[in-house]
Amino acid sequence: MSDAEGLPASVPAAGDRRRAPAPAHLRFFHGPMDCGKSTLALQVDHNQSRQGRSGLLLTQGDRSARPRITSRVGLAREAVEVDAGTDLLLLVRTRWADGTRVDYLIVDEAQFLTPGQVDQLAELVDASHVDVYAFGLTTDFRARLFPGTQRLLEVADDVQRIQVEVLCWCGAPGLLNARVVDGQMVREGATVVVADTAPTPAPDSVAPDASTTVPETHYQVLCRRHHVLGLLGPGAAGPGQLALP
Ligand SMILES: [Zn+2]
Repeated sequence: MSDAEGLPASVPAAGDRRRAPAPAHLRFFHGPMDCGKSTLALQVDHNQSRQGRSGLLLTQGDRSARPRITSRVGLAREAVEVDAGTDLLLLVRTRWADGTRVDYLIVDEAQFLTPGQVDQLAELVDASHVDVYAFGLTTDFRARLFPGTQRLLEVADDVQRIQVEVLCWCGAPGLLNARVVDGQMVREGATVVVADTAPTPAPDSVAPDASTTVPETHYQVLCRRHHVLGLLGPGAAGPGQLALP
């Protein structure tokens, strides 16, 4: 099916370059919350579009609760909201059918992708030479890989752990995401509970299926030691533990 099959692996002559475009790549950038993922995603998009390339931005459950990629430093770009049922091949091919170029994809919140959707991204790379830049959380609040993250680690051409800007309250590098419900770190529950550190959502941002969200849930980045201990701050006692002096 791929038109690239059977071509020699050697560098083509100059006149042949159009027939054998530079190979595309699936690149995955991952880290804990607040590591600057979305900012990096928007930076990559900016750099690509400055080269005259046309991109499509995908996200799900962005903190703005709107189909946009937003970063905590105030950048924002319109994006297409996807969910677990979205056929990413069909999504891109529909754009092409409309006459819209898609040279690259920026996929934010890639941890929420299903393994099958990650395979679709790989197919877009290999069969259609679309560059894919995926950005996601490494682990969930139980310190386990998200399914989408696991599949990306398995099949991506290039994986980079984002250099962490965020620190645990103790000053050590932040590594793991803790889910905090009513002031207590929890280790059980649904893998995906989209909450945010934003104090109040915009009045018009109510998602139709957001009614089951656990009350007063937020996430906090901790070092590994304090994630294991369940300690959320210097004066906070972990479950069944005395506060440290
Ligand atoms: Zn710590």
